[in-house]
Amino acid sequence: MDSMKLFWCAALAAGALSAQTFSGAAALDEVINQAIVNGALPAAPREDGCKNCEYLPVCGPYEEERVKEKSQAELRGLKEMRGWR
Ligand code: SF4
Repeated sequence: MDSMKLFWCAALAAGALSAQTFSGAAALDEVINQAIVNGALPAAPREDGCKNCEYLPVCGPYEEERVKEKSQAELRGLKEMRGWR
């Protein structure tokens, strides 16, 4: 993920990002990096998230139900990100 940090820093330096957007991007980068390090990137669609997704034939129709049975601790970072809007 170091290349992503370099990308965000370059975008900030070029004036393409506000400091607030840079801060959000860095936080997003950290959550994703931590998930990769922990080997925990479960499918976790939000309600109705699968409805129009092209991968529905791959995942099957019940992923929105299965996510309720998954470790909620592993989904904490994802849930936090969804609240950042
Ligand atoms: S169908 Fe699969 S990839 Fe698409 S949103 Fe649902 S869980 Fe995610």
